[in-house]
Amino acid sequence: MPTLTTHSPAETEMLGERWGREAQYGWIIGLSGDLGAGKTQLVKGLARGLGSVARVHSPTFTLVNEYSGGRLRLFHLDLYRLETREQIVAAGLEEYLQPDGVTVIEWAERMANDEWRMANLRRVKFEIIGETERRITYEDTDA
Ligand code: ADP
Ligand code: MG
Repeated sequence: MPTLTTHSPAETEMLGERWGREAQYGWIIGLSGDLGAGKTQLVKGLARGLGSVARVHSPTFTLVNEYSGGRLRLFHLDLYRLETREQIVAAGLEEYLQPDGVTVIEWAERMANDEWRMANLRRVKFEIIGETERRITYEDTDA
């Protein structure tokens, strides 16, 4: 599994920007890791790499933010407040798992892997290893 360490918020954002430039229609990027690990920072880069100038912030109350204006639409989900499959379905989030664009999900670990069928998933794990160091491990799964 590819692993890298970033040493600043800007570096994490740059990684997201690179992924945004590479992103293809239908991609899902699942982010897991503690509060403050850098998930939202990466999403800022993703939006920029896709060419959107939208202001990125965690969709804590709305559950989904949509950023347009780029090469592909970006749907930004945050599952922090959701725990069960039922809650995720009830919140209407299932449609974003076959996105008309690209979906990025914070707190993706809230989704049990065997309960969801996701194609084109990049699973990303963030670990805080220092004040400004973050270890980022990722893996692509094609189903
Ligand atoms: P999350 O969405 O995972 O809760 P955020 O991206 O909102 O995390 O916040 C990450 C915080 O950590 C920000 O305050 C950011 O400035 C700080 N930070 C320090 N070093 C890094 C790094 N290498 N990558 C990302 N964020 C970092
Ligand atoms: Mg966040």
